[in-house]
Order: sequence, then structure tokens, then C-alpha cells
Amino acid sequence: MNATLISVGNELLNGKTINTNASYIAKSLRSLGIMVTRTITISDEEEWIFKTLKETEDKIIIFTGGLGSTSDDLTKESVAKFYKLKLQLHQESLTRIKNHFARSNNEMPKVNEKQAYFPKEAIILNNDYGTAPGAIIQLKESTIVLLPGPPQEMKPMFKYVMAFLEERIDYRFHEAGYLVAGTSESVMEEKLKDFYAKHSEVRIAPYAGLGEISYLMTSKDASKLEKALEDFKKQFSKNIVGPYNQTLEEILVERLIAQNQTISFAESCTGGMIASRLINVPNASKVINESFILYSDTSKMKHLGLHQSILERFGAVSAQCVYELAYQLAQRTGTTITLSVSGIAGPSGGTHNKPVGTVYFGVHYEDKTRTYHKVFVGDREMIRKKATAFGLYLLIKTISHEDIDS
Ligand code: ATP
Ligand code: MG
Repeated sequence: MNATLISVGNELLNGKTINTNASYIAKSLRSLGIMVTRTITISDEEEWIFKTLKETEDKIIIFTGGLGSTSDDLTKESVAKFYKLKLQLHQESLTRIKNHFARSNNEMPKVNEKQAYFPKEAIILNNDYGTAPGAIIQLKESTIVLLPGPPQEMKPMFKYVMAFLEERIDYRFHEAGYLVAGTSESVMEEKLKDFYAKHSEVRIAPYAGLGEISYLMTSKDASKLEKALEDFKKQFSKNIVGPYNQTLEEILVERLIAQNQTISFAESCTGGMIASRLINVPNASKVINESFILYSDTSKMKHLGLHQSILERFGAVSAQCVYELAYQLAQRTGTTITLSVSGIAGPSGGTHNKPVGTVYFGVHYEDKTRTYHKVFVGDREMIRKKATAFGLYLLIKTISHEDIDS
């Protein structure tokens, strides 16, 4: 079953408000296996509501916004007019709206009365956090849902919509997938060609970030999904880091905690991004005490005792430098795993041998220090983000004793 989402509101079009309702609803519906085919944002105008309804073929149409009390709120009125439904007073809603005002010792303004009018076909959705009730209108061909715009009102009401739809869907989608790192989306796409052909009944949606790609697979058939997951795992074991709905940092923190390990970083070109991502995760304090941003050469010598001779012979962006940093970091912090990163994020500073995007990584773990070398493509921010993702990838694979794609 498919759905169209129609967000009504001038404030969404002039850039004042970000349409968070659309992503919330789309995500929720997907968990029922209902695919949102289009999300449309339109102004508070009858003409646009008509035009959009005329063009929409999906069985489920969900509106948010324009249920307010003022004359510019006309979603419900326009929808009723379009489907030739008469609005009539819903007494219980009127009482609720009056009570809403009474709670703050106010009388209901006359303008709010219109919020209690609905087509008789409507199932009313109570609004516990505002005045505008919502509605589900089941027509012969389609289900129309009307919800208020403010997310804090819309979200609690949406659970009734979910319950209503869940009862009526004739099948459920099964979904699962993997988070992949240490590679790029284009490399993956090339390798996935045969996979897509073989598993044509499984829908595979990649969500590519910088240095990490989440593959969500959905299918009506659980066993086909299972087979696809198995094949994917076989083919991409070096790059799979965890389930599709977790972040690299969540996976890393979870595993560090499970293994009773601690971590510290010596970051140069990533400037603290790696530590910051890790500390985004609740419970990060269980695995991290301290971390270094060592941007200049002198700071690397001062805090981790890097020898000047290494800088002179090999430079700060070198395997020798990150090796020393990762090793020294482990000695000084006593953490069970350390990561050092040094690279050229650009736009200047590149050379023939070490172009912009060159990044070296050092990992010290279980008495061994290993180094890795990558050349990332992109602007300064992209290179730093890709290096951050690759660093997290290296750490997950290292503590899991799994092969690394480098
Ligand atoms: P109200 O009684 O508040 O007018 P309403 O149902 O008419 O309710 P709107 O006027 O469309 O809702 O929106 C009210 C406020 O809700 C907007 O100013 C905006 O801040 C927020 N809002 C509306 N639509 C969205 C949306 N799609 N995503 C996020 N916020 C939204
Ligand atoms: Mg409004």
C-alpha cells in the first residue's frame, strides 16, 4: 500500500519551518510496510489542495497543517469540498475545545468553533495538546487523514492513525539490513550488480553518508529477505559493521562496553570529530576518559613525545608518525585501544606523493600497532568526515578481530 503526504502551510514554503512531520510520518508508515510515494508541500490555498488531490492516486492521503482556527487554515474545509462531504458539528469535540480553554480560565473564542466541524464519515482524533482535532475519513477508494501542523500535537495523534492502518493492511513488509563502511557507494554499486539481479524480489535501498552506507532491504517474503541478507553478508563481510539502523559510533561504543575496553584518540586533521561522534552516544563515558587534538607538529611532540626526527624524515602525514602517536597514546592513557589520525584535508598542502585527501591512521590494540593509508576524495569537510567514518570503521573491525578492507 502506498501513501501520499501533503504538508500544508505557507511557513513550510518560505523556509521558516522545516518539514519534520513528513520524515516522522514516512518513517512510521514504513514500519507498517506502507511506502510514501510522494511528499508534497503546498500553501494554505484551496486551489492547491484541489490540484494536489486531483493528481494523487495513492490509497492513503495524509494531510498535516491548516486545522487551526483562523481563516487561513482551510485544509479540512477544502478537503470536504473536494469530496463533496458536508461538515457538521461534532458536539464532543466542541466540548473538548471549550474544556481546553477552561483549563486556563478562558472562554473559547468564537473562531475556534469551526475546529469542531467534521464530515459525518470522519473518525475524530482527539488532540490532547492543542485545540484542533484530527480526523480519519474512510472513503470508498481512499483513506484521508487530517492532522494538525504542530509536531507536538501531530505526533501523539499519529499513533491512532498507525493503529487504524495496521488493522487494514493486508500484508507486512519484513525489513533488515546492514551498515557498511570502509568503502564507497560507487564501489559497492559496481559489486552489487549481480546481487540486485539475483535478489530482484527484495527491495534494496542504500542510504549513503560520507564513508558509511546503510543498506535497508525490504521484502514481503521473509525467507527471500533472509537469503538476501545471507548473500550480502558473505560478499561484504569486510565492510559490514553492524545493523542498518545503528550508527558507527553506537556500534563501537556498544562493543567497547561489552568487551570492557577503553579508548582514546590522537586526532590531527579530524580535529576532534571522531571523539565528538563517539561522545554523541549515551554511555560514552564508560569507554572514554580523554582524547587529544594534536594539530600542530609541536603539539604532537609536546603531548605524545613524538620525535623530531620522525617529523623531519617522514613528516606529520606519514605511517611512521601515526604509528608513534597511536603507540605513545596507549602508553600514556593506558586505554586498551587507541587511534591516531593525520592527513591533508586541503584545500592546500597537497604534494605529488601526498595529494590532498591523504590520511594515515594508526591503531594500537593488543600490543600491536598497525597503520593504514587512505586517499579520500572531496572538499575539506568531506575528507574530514570520510576520515572520521574510516577511523570508526577501523576500530570496530579491530576490536571484533575481523578483516579490514584497506
Ligand atoms: P494552529 O492551530 O497552530 O494554526 P494548524 O493545524 O493550523 O494549527 P499550522 O498552522 O499549519 O497548523 O502550523 C502551526 C505550526 O506548526 C507552524 O507554524 C509550524 O511551526 C508547525 N508546523 C506546521 N507544519 C509543520 C510540519 N510539516 N513540520 C514541522 N512543523 C510544522
Ligand atoms: Mg494554522
